[in-house]
Amino acid sequence: MQEKRKGLNTICTHTGELKDETFKGAVSPLYMSTSYAFEDVEVKRYPRYFNTPNQQALCEKIAALEKAEAALIFGSGMAAISTSLLAFLRSGDHVVMQNMLYGGTYNLVIRHFEDFGIEYTLTDGLAPGDFEKEIKENTRVIYVETPSNPLLTLTDLEAITAVAKKHGLISMIDNTFASPVNQTPIDFGIDIVIHSATKYMGGHSDICAGAVASTSENMDRIFKLGIALGGSLSDYTVWLLERSMKTMGLRVKAQNDNAQKLAEYLDNHEDIEQVYYPGLASHPDHKLATRQMKGFGGMMSFELNKGIDPSVFMNALQLIKPSMSLAGIESTVLSPAKTSHALMPPEERAKQGISDRLIRFSLGIEETEDLISDIDQALERTKNMAALVDSEKY
Ligand SMILES: *Cc1c(COP(=O)(O)O)cnc(C)c1O
Repeated sequence: MQEKRKGLNTICTHTGELKDETFKGAVSPLYMSTSYAFEDVEVKRYPRYFNTPNQQALCEKIAALEKAEAALIFGSGMAAISTSLLAFLRSGDHVVMQNMLYGGTYNLVIRHFEDFGIEYTLTDGLAPGDFEKEIKENTRVIYVETPSNPLLTLTDLEAITAVAKKHGLISMIDNTFASPVNQTPIDFGIDIVIHSATKYMGGHSDICAGAVASTSENMDRIFKLGIALGGSLSDYTVWLLERSMKTMGLRVKAQNDNAQKLAEYLDNHEDIEQVYYPGLASHPDHKLATRQMKGFGGMMSFELNKGIDPSVFMNALQLIKPSMSLAGIESTVLSPAKTSHALMPPEERAKQGISDRLIRFSLGIEETEDLISDIDQALERTKNMAALVDSEKY
């Protein structure tokens, strides 16, 4: 008989925990050993083989969260992404990737795939037809990222897996922005689910890690390349990540809640031109989001009105930090035009809808009212400063 599937917070708190048989402590002990016995043992353990006790325990938790048979954890999100892609793409193969991609993934593909003899196409859009029309004789993989960065566009998972199955392709998703709390792509037939665990899984802006979940067969293939490429995670960080993930369900739900409330507030704000958040009924992918996501996520973007200087605004914030990364329990903002998309020519940025006044907002778990007050005081100060500069001109 199959065991009843446990609920989200129970999996987060308990699945895969190691028992402390010696002292009966309540939490998983940390095994830092890089050297284990080789005789009279079932498994030859070594950190780079992804099979230390703490690694295996955490992988169980991640597999359970993604409803997968197996999972592996890596030293970074990019180690997880590169190992997964290269495990399924040989020289002469082709991959169809969606056009809106995380910067590091984009860099891997456009700077390095040609050297490996791997062909790629970035789609023109995110509709299923945009993917299907790029499929060639030698295509092996379809790769998507939804919701995307920074405009929170969605890709239809059910439609993508239908295309992948029709053409016998492996489908992969970067599920980082949603986290397993808000989206479990295997429910829609996606083959391989990848995370930057640096983001919501870690959640405290102090861990760099990656994860992949899939069938045992697919994970075996990723494992075999993984031990050769050597992108494993240190056991100390594995242990910290397990500890962080106990509260992931609680954190992410609080972050969703803040994002929804702030999106609604900013959507009605006279100083904000536009808000991009899948939880808003006005978002073009809202219906799709309702279908494939359990929560709308803790990430949003908004565009300041013309005349409100984005740098002055971000520096006027007192609680919310201008900061590069995302998904921590503290709220942060960033300018995509100055960071992730800085190398893109301004015309191309404009074409994608990424203006200089666009602010990406990663919601933390602070009280909603405090976040609203912080934004309001920063907007007021920014406008007052602009008025002062104007008055000095005359
Ligand atoms: C951060 C991020 C990555 C890369 O993860 P690292 O842990 O920095 O290597 C990949 N995809 C998305 C969507 C991300 O936000």
